[in-house]
Amino acid sequence: MNNKTLAIIKPDAVGNGFTGKIMDRIISSGFSIKAARLLHLSREQAERFYEVHKERPFYQDLVDFMTSGPCMPMALEKENAVAEFRQLIGATNPVEAAEGTIRKDFAESVQNNAVHGSDSDKNSEKEIAFFFSSNEILN
Ligand code: ADP
Ligand code: MG
Repeated sequence: MNNKTLAIIKPDAVGNGFTGKIMDRIISSGFSIKAARLLHLSREQAERFYEVHKERPFYQDLVDFMTSGPCMPMALEKENAVAEFRQLIGATNPVEAAEGTIRKDFAESVQNNAVHGSDSDKNSEKEIAFFFSSNEILN
């Protein structure tokens, strides 16, 4: 089992001033932040990151949203990190997200849903490598 996952505080949440509150939730839920940076994704980066959704009807709007302002990718560590983080953030659509989850409390809509979390160990490795080289990740 991999113990890392890739989180992104998305442009809606950064723009709404929720970065600190979301980081606090993450840390107080037992994750340690092993890498973090603030960046404004280029169109090419956003398209590549969400390439698996290329054929979905919301893809272009998603790319517009993810390039609309700065975001904060983070490499997080915890035992069973992928599943634990998905549980902490809640369902994709905040209307369906459980009480107390990050998306329930901070998301604006199914698209502007505050945070990203990797969906498998294979993707978490790929997604962490997308944003961070190995010498940028704490041991
Ligand atoms: P998750 O982020 O929960 O893993 P997906 O991988 O299915 O969800 O989708 C990636 C992102 O695309 C979502 O987090 C959200 O920002 C956006 N998205 C997903 N479904 C929709 C939808 N029906 N309409 C608009 N945007 C969507
Ligand atoms: Mg996903």
